[in-house]
Parts: sequence; structure tokens; C-alpha cells
Amino acid sequence: MATENINDLFIEELKNILDAEHQITKGLPNLIKASESLELKDALSGHLKETEGQVERLNKIFSLLKIKPQTTSCKAMKGLIDECDAVIKEFSKSALRDAAIIAKAQRIEHYEIATYGTLKSFATELGLIEITALLKTTLDQESAADKKLTKIAEGSLLTAGINSEANSK
Ligand code: FE
Ligand code: ZN
Ligand code: FE
Repeated sequence: MATENINDLFIEELKNILDAEHQITKGLPNLIKASESLELKDALSGHLKETEGQVERLNKIFSLLKIKPQTTSCKAMKGLIDECDAVIKEFSKSALRDAAIIAKAQRIEHYEIATYGTLKSFATELGLIEITALLKTTLDQESAADKKLTKIAEGSLLTAGINSEANSK
């Protein structure tokens, strides 16, 4: 079916982020294992739990739209996760590897923030009040995860944390 209007585009983007969240669910355990800092392990584990909830939330959105949850391959997320795996291969367990993990994990969070921000705007435009609220819940979780990652490096590896500029916006 061709994408002809904002409603179609909204559904296409939902399918894409559902695939991305599935990929994150599979990718995060490797990052958790590879992290040295307990704080980083905890933050990533917490976000893995949240991510499972985000998948459920997307399934709920599909059911509210009265369509079956479907996915289209998210090539962007595949690339981001490949980069995470490369970092794990390249460095041995250390504070430096933790910094590299945070750098890569934050790219994922920013990608998700961009996606859910757009989806929320589309849902608002389409007058889908309940779905807008669901998307906002996930968007807030992604932002909080991003800010937490910035904080973890603060005071240890980098005095100003990682990506504090992006997080001050
Ligand atoms: Fe997510
Ligand atoms: Zn994508
Ligand atoms: Fe996330």
C-alpha cells in the first residue's frame, strides 16, 4: 500500500520504531555485560526493562489503531547497534570502554527522541489523544535515559560528563 497521507506516514514510522525497539531489546544485554561501572550496568539494565515496556506500549498503540503490530526493518538502528558491537570488540573492559559505550548508547537515545518526538506530533495532528499520551510517556523515558547516561561519566572520566551540551537543551 502506498503512503499517501499523514496517517499512512504515522503508521509507517510506528512499524519502523517497533523494529528499532526490538533490536534495542536484543542489543542492550551485550552493552550491560561489557560495562565496567556498576552505575552504568544499572542504568542500562533499567532502560532494558523500560524498553520492553515501550514495545508493549507500541503494541497497544497498534491495537488502538485496530491494526496488527507490524515492523519494517530499521536500517539506522542496525547501524547504531553494529557500532556498539564494534566498541565492545575494540576495547577491553575499562573506564574508557564505558565512555565509548555511553557515547554509542546516547546516539541510540537521540535517534529515539527524534522518532518519538515526530510520532507524538503526528498523533497530536491526527487528534489521537490517548496515543499521544502513550508516545509522550515513552519520549520522556528516552530523554531521562539520555540524561542519566550524561551524568554517569560526570566527575569520574570526564568532569563535565558526556554530551552535557546536548542535554542542556
Ligand atoms: Fe526505546
Ligand atoms: Zn529507521
Ligand atoms: Fe531508549
